Amino acid sequence: MFGAVVVGIGTAGWVRMRDMLAPLPGSAAEKLAVRGFISRRSLDSQQGVSPISIEEAVSREDIHVAFICTENVSHEDNVRTFLQAGKHVCVEYPMTMNYKAAVELWDIAQEKGVILHEEHIELLTEDYKELKREVEGKILQEGTLHFTGGALKPGFGFPAFSGIARLTWLVELFGELSATAATMEEDSANNYSKMTAKLMTSDNRPLTWIEERGPGLPRAKNINFVFDSGTLTEIPPAPRGAVGLFMQDLILFSAKVVGQVSPDELQKEKSRILHCSKLAERIQQLCQS
Ligand code: NAD
Repeated sequence: MFGAVVVGIGTAGWVRMRDMLAPLPGSAAEKLAVRGFISRRSLDSQQGVSPISIEEAVSREDIHVAFICTENVSHEDNVRTFLQAGKHVCVEYPMTMNYKAAVELWDIAQEKGVILHEEHIELLTEDYKELKREVEGKILQEGTLHFTGGALKPGFGFPAFSGIARLTWLVELFGELSATAATMEEDSANNYSKMTAKLMTSDNRPLTWIEERGPGLPRAKNINFVFDSGTLTEIPPAPRGAVGLFMQDLILFSAKVVGQVSPDELQKEKSRILHCSKLAERIQQLCQS
């Protein structure tokens, strides 16, 4: 068994504990056992799991794994601490708020011989799988992905990073991208922001990514993908899967920890994550220049 701790008991951290306490029967997730949680608050036991200090978590030999579920800006420090202690790490996206730090963390993971996994539940949704099937084999002319959502709490960082799930969708659908221009509109008094990034596929097809957030904005992804053969204006509706998204991610991470995922697969994922991080940083620079 691999002992695990959860760092940050917000929505995601709470779900991580719940899923480890009741893993999908027969899945690799059964190999994880939650041994404690770490919070900056003084919390009593949660779901029967006790709080422990970070010092205890890094030094205990029966703790092999950490889940980093804090707000985005503190992911990097937490990931680094656990990797350096030789623990496998699963971090909610985005892993870091800049590209250089992401490269450093992957280097530490490699040096220590541990798994570094960035959660990407957006790739596990039935909506995404249906869209991927729909896009497969079609030749893109141009496209837009416009995300809207409520205002984020402090600590979630620049939209190109907090919204890296949308960028990951585009990269998984259309291959590696480059950023040609980006702008940011902000009305901080009203907690409103709109980032518009102009992207280009490797065969020079333009894509626009808009990340818009403000109080009361519905959580939605609007698409307009123009292909040689027609236009896709809606994400094809798909029924929810039987297994929850965080549980699917937990199973994937556990499979990596127990050595069931091939080095090729691991490398492919790492390349995609680093590509998206570099692209997000470039978008941020373009917005700020
Ligand atoms: P959250 O706001 O619920 O929690 C974030 C952090 O705030 C946690 O460290 C938590 O301990 C702390 N926190 C929460 N309530 C607090 C309180 N009352 N007082 C003091 N601290 C408090 O955010 P979240 O949704 O759990 O997101 C955490 C990470 O998971 C983020 O990186 C996010 O991008 C990622 N994520 C979340 C979801 C989701 O569906 N919630 C999905 C994908 C990725």
